[in-house]
Amino acid sequence: FDQRDGFIWYNGALVPWRDAKLHVLSHGLHYGSCVFEGERAYGGKIFKSVEHSERFKNSAQILDFEIPYSVEALVAAKDATLKANNFTDCYVRPVAWRGSEMMAVAAQNSTIHVAIAMWDWPSMFDIATKMKGIKLDIAEYCRPDPRTAPSLAKAAGLYMICTISKHRAERRGYADALMLDWQGRVAECTGANVFFVKDGALHTPIADCFLDGITRRTVIDLAKRRGIELIERRIMPEEMASFDECFICGTGAEVTPVSGIGGKYSFTPGAVSRAMVEDYNKEIHA
Ligand code: PMP
Repeated sequence: FDQRDGFIWYNGALVPWRDAKLHVLSHGLHYGSCVFEGERAYGGKIFKSVEHSERFKNSAQILDFEIPYSVEALVAAKDATLKANNFTDCYVRPVAWRGSEMMAVAAQNSTIHVAIAMWDWPSMFDIATKMKGIKLDIAEYCRPDPRTAPSLAKAAGLYMICTISKHRAERRGYADALMLDWQGRVAECTGANVFFVKDGALHTPIADCFLDGITRRTVIDLAKRRGIELIERRIMPEEMASFDECFICGTGAEVTPVSGIGGKYSFTPGAVSRAMVEDYNKEIHA
C-alpha cells in the first residue's frame, strides 16, 4: 500500500505518497495512541465530511489528545487532498497519532501528527447482487464495557478485536463477524453497524459501547423520512430467530443486506432492506 503514486496530506502539506513515513518509535504504534476516520467521496464530494471530522476530533479527545486542526481546516485539507489526487469517488482515511518524543506510557509532550490518505475503493452498486445478502459469523471477542476501554472512540487500539474477528470469520467462510457486547447483547460488526427488521419496523442496538456510525445515523434518518418505525434497544442473540430481515451499514459497507448469521439464523433480504439500500444510494449522490 505504501508504493503508490499520488499525494498524502501530512501535517499540513501534501507530500508524495511514498514519502509519507513515520518513525518506528512513534507512541501511536507502541501504545495505541492513535485515532482514525473512514469516509467516502462520491462525485467529487466527501459525504458527511464535517460529521466525520467532528468524530475524529472527539475520538482524539477521548484518548486525551487534541488534534491541532479545526473541523474547518480538516474539511479543507480533505478537499485539497481529493483535488490533488484527481479523485471523484474514493475512500478517505484521516489518521492522528502521538509521535516519538516520549517512549513510555505517559506521553503528554509528544507531537500530534495528522495525515489524510485517499484511495480507490469501489462500492458494490449492483442492487441485485446486494440483495442476495452476505453471511456473518459470530465473533469470539466481545465489545468491551465502556469502563474497560474507550469504546465510543474510533481508536486504532480497539480494532485488534475487529481484525482478529474478521480473520476468523473469513477463515470460516463468512464475509464478516457480528460482535456481541460485554453483556452478551448484539452489538455491531467489525466495521459496520447492524439493523434488523421485524413486522416492517427497524430494530437496532443502542450504541453505548460501540461506534455510533455516521451511516447508522443516516439510516435512522432515512427510515424516519419513509415513516418506518425505528426502535433502538437491547437485542439478545436468541431474538435473531424472530427477525425477518437484517442488514449492516457503514461507510465502507454502505447498506448491505445479510442472509445468515452464525449458520443458525437466516434472513430473507426484503422490502425494508431494499428501501434502505436505495435511499442510501440516493442520499450519497444527492
Ligand atoms: N463500527 C465499526 C467498528 C466501524 O469500524 C465502522 C466504520 N467506521 C462503523 C461501525 C460504521 O461507522 P460509519 O458509518 O461512521 O462508517
